[in-house]
Order: sequence, then structure tokens, then C-alpha cells
Amino acid sequence: MSSEKPESPSEKPGSQPKHIVLTSHPTRFGPKPFPIQWGAADPLVRGAIIGTLTNAAHRNVIGSHSGAYGIYRALAVASGQLQSDHRADLTNTSPAALLGPHPAWADPEKIVSLDPFGALVGEVYKPLYEKGYDIRPTIAITRAHINMPELQEAAAKGRLKVDGTIMKGNGDLVVTKAAIEPVWYLPGLAKRLGVTESILRRTLFEQTGGMFPELVTRHDLHVFLPPIGGMTVYIVGDVAAITDPDRELAVRIHDECNGSDVFGSDICTCRPYLVHGIEGCVQTAQAGGAGVIVYFRKEGRALGEVTKFLVYNARKRQEGGDRADAYFARTECVAGVQDMRFQELMPDVLHWLGVTRIDRLISMSNMKYDAITQSGITVVERVPIPNDMIPADAQVEIEAKKAAGYYTEGQVPTEAILAAVKGRDLSD
Ligand SMILES: [Zn+2]
Repeated sequence: MSSEKPESPSEKPGSQPKHIVLTSHPTRFGPKPFPIQWGAADPLVRGAIIGTLTNAAHRNVIGSHSGAYGIYRALAVASGQLQSDHRADLTNTSPAALLGPHPAWADPEKIVSLDPFGALVGEVYKPLYEKGYDIRPTIAITRAHINMPELQEAAAKGRLKVDGTIMKGNGDLVVTKAAIEPVWYLPGLAKRLGVTESILRRTLFEQTGGMFPELVTRHDLHVFLPPIGGMTVYIVGDVAAITDPDRELAVRIHDECNGSDVFGSDICTCRPYLVHGIEGCVQTAQAGGAGVIVYFRKEGRALGEVTKFLVYNARKRQEGGDRADAYFARTECVAGVQDMRFQELMPDVLHWLGVTRIDRLISMSNMKYDAITQSGITVVERVPIPNDMIPADAQVEIEAKKAAGYYTEGQVPTEAILAAVKGRDLSD
């Protein structure tokens, strides 16, 4: 082997540090980082979330920004395409609509899985940013036009009206949307899940193969930027109506189902229910209120799409074929659990929006309903998906869910009925 250093893009000056700096021991830090006082009403007292990778002494959180995309950032740095010390230029990136602050922002227990000030960091922490601190927003708010064929059809059939402001003549829906990255306050998260913080920290460390040593070594740091997907909020109508007690609010909480949401798979009700939710939001907004869709990146009940497809195969190949009475059992065989979405964390986004009452919750999920109401939000009406929107093969899913506690205005299916609800097999 030649003793000369090989020329490689990864060794360009500035692209990578010369030696690895371990951040896992407090003594390496020298001066203490800015403290975070979670739940403080004043963002300057609360403290900025500083996940910078360029100055270890500034870091006051565990993990790094961008959720799962942090790994792609590592690839970009490793391959020499991204300077590791790049600091975001936040010129003109400020929110396109102002949301909050709301009373829940100042309650350390109402919001534990996102940073309520995440969209405002460019403004409220400007002095720190100007001093060279690498502070990044964890929320971005913009405006958009969205267009879905089902909404055009709803307008053509007269269920939605083209008003020129909320719904344009070409079927475009005008929305305000917010992308949110997870920011976890570990003591609050532990309390929400009913475990101790030390068990939570240790399990997160172990179950990521030791990816974040600070979870077990840095007990002075209580905020974690987990490497997972976040959520997107779509607001239809006047943002101010969300918190106005005299105006109505429709909400759908939707957990990602790529197969149905984007590709129209007929095995579940996800896209039809999402469309029904958007329709309800538009109707409520057009009546003077607002509608909110929250789209969580929790594919396959947060079990992931590989697990989901394995379950599909297991369901369709089991003795007697795909049947509603074995719907949850097949998931449990493959994944060990039926669901890993932890809906108890979900209402945080509603509290971030300032929601205290939902007039129409467009969901049949008892888990979502329980989480929302137990967090202190009043739900006036629950809106099920209309039967004519349910694809034939998705009867297995919807009947199994009704039997398991989903809200229905009709009959809760008995064991005998469940056993009789069958789906297609794999050869079809
Ligand atoms: Zn689905």
C-alpha cells in the first residue's frame, strides 16, 4: 500500500473533521450549553433547540436535525457533496402564516414531541443566529394549491362549491401547510407513555444499536431529535378559525399509507377516508370555519411497509383466506404487536395549533378519539367513512376494526359475521 494519502472527495478541506469528536461525555463540553426550560412561555427563557454538528459546545440536544434525512446528510458529507459546516441561510424562509403562540405552548405536558417555537426560530433566536449559532427551524409553514381528482368530482356532483377563494375554478384547493419534524422532550414523553425516563432513554439507546450514546451518558440533556419521520398539517380556510370558539372545526388525523394514499390500493380505506376528510374540511371552511388534516409519517401503523406487505401475504395465504376475524392476529404474528403508532403523542400537534374543540372528527379510530379527548380536547361529532367509499377488498379491514372498537353508527360485527367477511386471495 502506498503511504501517500489518496485523493478522495471526502478529504477536501472543511468537508470532514480530522478526528472524531465524541459528544457522549459532559466533560468534553467545557462551558455548559444553553439550557432548555421546556414549557416556558417565553421562547428566550425556553431556550433554542440547538442540534448543530459543527460546534459541540453549542449542542443542547441529543441527535441531529431533519429526522430520518439526517442519514442522507451524512452520505452527502461523506461523498464530498456537502460541506459539513454548512449553515442554513434562512433569508425569506419565515412562515407564510402565523400560528400561535397558544396557551398549550406554555404547558410542559401538553406538547412533548415537537417544538412549538419550531417555525419561529429565525425570528425569535435571531440574535443567537447572528452570533454564529447554527440554529435550524424544525417547522416550516407555507401556502399551496392542491388538486385531487376526487375533489374535482365532488365539485362536479355539487358536494363542494367552487367559491374562487377556498376552491378555485380548476378544482384547486388553497391550503396553508406546515411540515413538522419531531423534537422529543424525554421526561414528558416518558410520562406520557407511563415509563421512567431512564428506561425510555436506555431502551432508545439499545433499540437503535447504540446509535445515540448521549441517551445514557448525558443526563443533563433532555431533548432528543429522533431519526424518524414527522408530519404535515394541511389547513383549509381561515387559520384564525381554528381557535375561534364561534367557528366550527373539522379534523382528520391521517397516518401515512403510501399504497392507498398515492397508488390507490384497494386493500384498505386510507385514500378514500383521506379524501372524505378533505371534503369535510372544505365544507366546514366554506361554512366559515376551518379544516385541518394532519398527515403522520407512520406507515403501516408505524410498523413499516415491509412488515405491512408481509402481513398482506400472511393474511391472504392463511387457511380460509383473508378474513376479518384474523385481521389483527396476522399483524401480531409478524410484528409482535398490532400497532406501534402511540397515538398518545398525536394530540401534540393539535395543541400546537391551539385546538380545544373539534366539531367534526373525521375518523372512526377509537385510539385517536381516546387520545384526543384524554388530552383535554372536546370532540362534538365523529364522522365515519360512507359505505359507498369503501373498496370491496377493504371490507376485511373495516369490519375487523369495527369489531375491535372503531366508531360505527351501524352494527358492531359479531364473531360469525367477521368470519364471513372475506377478501381476495393473492392469485387474483
Ligand atoms: Zn391503508
